[in-house]
Amino acid sequence: MTANTTTAPTARLIEVFSAIQGEGLNVGTRQIFIRFAFCDLRCHFCDSVHTWNAPADCRIERTPGFRDFEIHSNPVAIPVLLEWIARQNLPCLHDSISLTGGEPLLHAAFLKEFLPQVRSLISLPIYLETGGHRPEQLAMILPYLDSVGMDLKLPSVSGESYWSEHMKFLQICYPNLETFIKIIISQHTDTHELEQAALLVADVSPEIPVFLQPVTPLIASESSNHTPILAPTPAQVLAWQTLMKKILKQVRVIPQTHKMLNQL
Ligand code: SF4
Repeated sequence: MTANTTTAPTARLIEVFSAIQGEGLNVGTRQIFIRFAFCDLRCHFCDSVHTWNAPADCRIERTPGFRDFEIHSNPVAIPVLLEWIARQNLPCLHDSISLTGGEPLLHAAFLKEFLPQVRSLISLPIYLETGGHRPEQLAMILPYLDSVGMDLKLPSVSGESYWSEHMKFLQICYPNLETFIKIIISQHTDTHELEQAALLVADVSPEIPVFLQPVTPLIASESSNHTPILAPTPAQVLAWQTLMKKILKQVRVIPQTHKMLNQL
């Protein structure tokens, strides 16, 4: 008799909580956030460095929005996560479930099993926040997603360069999912890279909304490359939006509003 070697999928998490989305197309909406551990990028402006490695434990909010966290050990199995999400899902409170990180697509095998189950249990749209550089993993879970917020990493700002991966990724997203692009801009943004980004998006569709997100400044000791990260000047932001609007229909400028609201 052959032994059954199939193991139930698990994921390493950072936290589960209810909060106001502070970025991009869904800004201001209320979401159940599932923050996954691990990221394979090392953006200079990263404000989630704590997600790069998996902690032994994760924290789970007991009451939506109360920050009354319980501590649970990693990794987490699907039935346990489903129970936590169901507990968060109070009537009329949330607009969607946000898969965030870290890089959620590093958990594609887990998500492929988890997402159909959460969809059958809870009628909230599923929104993916991603670095936009793992098209194969995106394809694995595409049928279970409703929308995607894809970062387009400018080498001059993030230190990462994924142009061809971003193109493949975007071609899978659009028009299958509600799709928008987020680009972090700083005082060091290279205008030519912004133009290249706009042309890349326009190649798929000039209708895809792009959000320019002025970086939240970091002092040298907070940035991953130990140099200060400075917000762009007002003149830079106006010039870059003008440039990109010649190529794309919607280019909006929105900073991280959850930081202004002092939210998680
Ligand atoms: S992709 Fe996100 S979590 Fe990963 S390094 Fe960049 S900003 Fe940080």
